[in-house]
Amino acid sequence: MSSSPKTRKKALPSNITVSTAFIAPIDNEVKAMFVGIFHDYLKRFKVKPTTNKTHIAICGTREYNEALGVATEAEGRIHVEVCDPSLEYDGDHLFVYIKFAETLAHEMVHVMQALTSHQSEGFDVVRHDKRNAKEEYFFSPAEVEARVLEAFYADTYGSELMVSTTEEEE
Ligand SMILES: [Zn+2]
Repeated sequence: MSSSPKTRKKALPSNITVSTAFIAPIDNEVKAMFVGIFHDYLKRFKVKPTTNKTHIAICGTREYNEALGVATEAEGRIHVEVCDPSLEYDGDHLFVYIKFAETLAHEMVHVMQALTSHQSEGFDVVRHDKRNAKEEYFFSPAEVEARVLEAFYADTYGSELMVSTTEEEE
């Protein structure tokens, strides 16, 4: 499945800028993926992005102990770190790149939550123990929303990224 060319051509509003830092030459694919997710998310949830000047910096990192990805918000800036298989493996394993694309998509959903202040309704109705840190994290509406959308967004807007990443390995 591939993303529609129409979606890819859309740009971001001029107040929102994106930069990337990866060892593999995947900058254009990562940016295109974000642009696709940006417009889908706004339409899907009928939300509007911030009009404040905001810069999003997306970078590949070596493996963490804690997580495969993390998004950090500060005044006017959002920093996204995703464990980059190009730094860690010589692998041409498709599942590695699918996980990479899904992790990127997951963190991009958190970026959209920050840009739109969207409060997802999520899973709050399901019984879970809010005093338990692990349950609080896994059942929090923002996390559930990111997990629901990550595979869909990776498949819809990340297929070129996965193709170009696996081709680079040859
Ligand atoms: Zn998350």
